Amino acid sequence: MSVEEMRWDLSQLVESTDPASVRQMLESMVAEAEKIREKYYGKIGGLGAEGLLGLLELNDSMTLKYGGVTLYCRLLYSANALDDTAKQLNDASRTSVMKMGQTLAFVEIEMGKLLASDPSIVEDSVLAEYKHSLERILRNVPHMLSDKEEQLILAKDKNGVYAWQQLQNDWLSTRTYEIEVEGEKKTMPYGEIIGLYQNPDRDLRMRANQIVYEELGRDEIIWASAVRSVCADHLQICGIRDYPTPMTQSFIANDVDQETIDSLMSTIVKSTGLYQRYLRMKAGLMGLEKLANYDIVAPLPNAPEMVYTWEESRDEVVSAYSDFDQQLGGWADEMFERNHIDGEVRKGKRSGAFCSTWLGGKSAYILQSFNGTVGNVRTQAHEMGHAIHAYLGSRAQKPSNYKIGSCIAECGSNFGELLLIERLLSKAATKKEKQAVLATLLDSFGMTCFQVSARVFFEQSMYDTIEEGGFLDGETVAGLWTAARDKIYGDAIDWLEVMKWEWTMKVHYYMPNRRFYNYPYVFAKLFVFALYRLYKEQGEAFVPKLRSLLAAGSSKSPWELGKELGFDIRTEEFWEKGMMQAEEFIDMLEETL
Ligand SMILES: [Zn+2]
Repeated sequence: MSVEEMRWDLSQLVESTDPASVRQMLESMVAEAEKIREKYYGKIGGLGAEGLLGLLELNDSMTLKYGGVTLYCRLLYSANALDDTAKQLNDASRTSVMKMGQTLAFVEIEMGKLLASDPSIVEDSVLAEYKHSLERILRNVPHMLSDKEEQLILAKDKNGVYAWQQLQNDWLSTRTYEIEVEGEKKTMPYGEIIGLYQNPDRDLRMRANQIVYEELGRDEIIWASAVRSVCADHLQICGIRDYPTPMTQSFIANDVDQETIDSLMSTIVKSTGLYQRYLRMKAGLMGLEKLANYDIVAPLPNAPEMVYTWEESRDEVVSAYSDFDQQLGGWADEMFERNHIDGEVRKGKRSGAFCSTWLGGKSAYILQSFNGTVGNVRTQAHEMGHAIHAYLGSRAQKPSNYKIGSCIAECGSNFGELLLIERLLSKAATKKEKQAVLATLLDSFGMTCFQVSARVFFEQSMYDTIEEGGFLDGETVAGLWTAARDKIYGDAIDWLEVMKWEWTMKVHYYMPNRRFYNYPYVFAKLFVFALYRLYKEQGEAFVPKLRSLLAAGSSKSPWELGKELGFDIRTEEFWEKGMMQAEEFIDMLEETL
C-alpha cells in the first residue's frame, strides 16, 4: 500500500491549486457578495414570495459556487498546520468568509423582519421548498441584533474566541511527547500518542495518559484563561441577545427544544446504573477488581489481534454499507476511489477525525489519523456515515436545506458504526472475538452517551459558577470537571490524579458559537439505537426510511423526523427505547461469560 492512497486529493475542490488563483477565487466570492448587497440592502422588507425565492436561490448558488474553495483552504490547513502556504490560504479564506458574512449579515436580519411582519409568507406555496429553513430563521428573530452589531460580533469572534481556538489547535498539533515503547524511547505527536490509549499493554496506556495529561496540566493557566474568557463571553452575548438560558442558542441551532433535551438528559441520569453495570462487567473480563480510567476504552486482554491495513479497513467499511444498501456502499467506495480520505499520521495534522460536506461536488472529505486499530476502522465507518449523509442530502436538497443541526448530523455516522459492528459480530468465530466486538460497541456507547453527558453537566456548571460570582481558575475548572464526571461514573472507576485536566484538550470548549456542543452526540447515539431496534424489527422495509431521513437534510425538524418514524422524542419513554437496545447488547455480552 502506498502512502499516497492514504492522502487526500484536495485539487478537485478548486479549478487550480495555484495560491494566486485560489486567492482570486476568494476575492470574486467577496465581490459577488457585495453585488448582492447592492441589489438587496434595505429592500428585502418589500419583497413578495417570488422576490424572496430569487434571493434564496441566489444565496444557494453562492454556496455551490464557492463552497469548494473555502473548503480547500480549510482542509489544506487541517492536513498540515505547519505549512506556510496552507496557513496563509486558511487565513485568507477566513478573512474572506468573514467579509462575506459581514457584507451579507443584513440578509438574515431583513429577512427576519420581513417574516416577523408577515409570518404567512412562510406558508406561501412558492416557498414550499424553503419552508422549514424560513421557520428556523423566524425562531431566531427575537435574538437578532442590528446589522452593525452583528458585524461587530463577527469581528469580535475572529480576533477573540477564534484566536483561543487557533491557539489550542496549533499548540496541540505541534506538541511532541517522549514515551518508552517496548524498551525504546520514542517521540510522538499528539495525534499518535493518543493511539496508545487503546494499546493492549495496560502499563503503556497508563503512562501515555499520565504523560499527556501531566503536560496539559502544566499549562493549566492558558487553558483556564481560555475557557474562562469563552464562557464569560457567551454569558454576555446571551444577555445581549436575550437568550433565557445559556443553552437556548444551541436549541435554536440544533432545531430542538428544552423539553426534548430535558427528557434526554434525565434518561441518562436515570440510566447511569446500567452503564456502571457494564463497566463492572468489563472489569471482570479484564481480570481486574475495578477499572482505571485508562481501561475504560481499552481492548479486552487476550482479545484476538485485530490490526487492519488501509485496504482491509476499506473493505470492511464499504461492505458494511453495501450489505445495508448497494448504492450507499457504492458511494463509500467512491470516497476511497477518488482519494477523499486522509488517513496518514503526521506531525502538524489536526488531531481527531471529521468529515466535511462538499455540496457543490455532491460529495465529502474525511480526515482521520489511521493507526490500523479496530477503533480506527470504526471511526472510518462513522465518518463515512457523514459522507453518505452528504451524498444523499446534497442530491435531494438545496444548500439552505443542508444546514443540519448536530442531533441529526450524527445519525448517518452512528448508524454506520452499528452496521460495521453487526458485520464484525457476524464474522466473530469465537466467544473471545464476540466479547471484543461487543466491548468495542459498548465502550463507544458509554463514551458517547455517558462520558459526553458529563461534559454537558460540566459546561453548565461553569456558567453557574460565573453567574454565582465564582472565578474559573485551573483548579476550580478541574474540580467542576471531576464533579460532573463522578455524577456519571459513581465509584465504578479509579482515576489518575492528572485526569482532572482532561477538559483542556476538548477543542469545542474553545470554539466560537459551539456552546453546548455535546448533547447532540448523546441525542444521536440514543436516537440511532432506537432506529436500529426498528431496523431489526422491520428488516429491508426500514432501508428506505433511513434513506429518506438522511435525504431530508435540515428540511424537517428532528421532532418531525422522529414523528415520521412513529416516535415522540419529547418523552422519556422514547429515549428509554434506545437505552433498552443498549441493555440488550449488555445482556448479549453477559451471555458470553
Ligand atoms: Zn460524527
